[in-house]
Amino acid sequence: MQHYFGHIEGKTAYIEEQDALRAKQVKRIELHEQVEIAEGERVYLCFCKSLHPLSFEVITEISETREPPLKLTLAFSLLKGDHNELLVLKGTELGVSRFIPFVSARTVVAPKGKEDNKLLRLRKIAKEGAEQCRRSLIPEVSDYATFEEVVQKATGLRLFAYEEAAIHGRSLLDYALKGETEATLLIGPEGGFTPKEAELAIKAGFQPVSLGKRILRAETAGIAGAAILLLSSER
Ligand code: SAH
Repeated sequence: MQHYFGHIEGKTAYIEEQDALRAKQVKRIELHEQVEIAEGERVYLCFCKSLHPLSFEVITEISETREPPLKLTLAFSLLKGDHNELLVLKGTELGVSRFIPFVSARTVVAPKGKEDNKLLRLRKIAKEGAEQCRRSLIPEVSDYATFEEVVQKATGLRLFAYEEAAIHGRSLLDYALKGETEATLLIGPEGGFTPKEAELAIKAGFQPVSLGKRILRAETAGIAGAAILLLSSER
């Protein structure tokens, strides 16, 4: 079933013009077809009552939420190529609430501005990914931040995936299944975190965690870490 983020007015539901175009031209929506429309964490079962202009009628609210009990912020160093996109898409499917792309000492990609095309594209990917996997909410992709900002502003359970913890450190699994409702997981750049950054994170209350004995690519680390924490939170 097609899924959109839109707004509800009484018994009628609307979606944005761009989404309406896509619904008609790409997804070939038909009159009377049933779709889901989400607004503010609520999802409604609707049917298409008019194609021109596109509008829907609400049949009923779908009661069960698709959002995990854990609000996970995945803060990751900006990566090369399309790895940021992969991380945001897969993280969205897994249920990440917020992504914070950050710049740390060994980040090799520099953002081109406050809201450059790369960031706008990540937001688009989060929205489309959330539609595709039928989430109730579109995860937020925050503005670029510095490593220091991320570390200082984090709340809830604070974890950082640390390559130096890979072999002898505590496993991320030790922190899953604890019934946490809010957590931040930091993922470093291709070159890893500097010892100074690790020290700063620990001082700010972050626990270094291992994702297994092999060194993973940063995007794999982000996806694996999100999967472990989010899936555990739903048990
Ligand atoms: N170049 C570094 C590895 C960086 S891997 C080195 O050779 O040591 C990129 C990021 O992925 C790391 O900063 C960390 O956040 C995460 N990561 C990769 N493998 C990990 C592991 N086994 N345990 C914890 N974090 C890991």
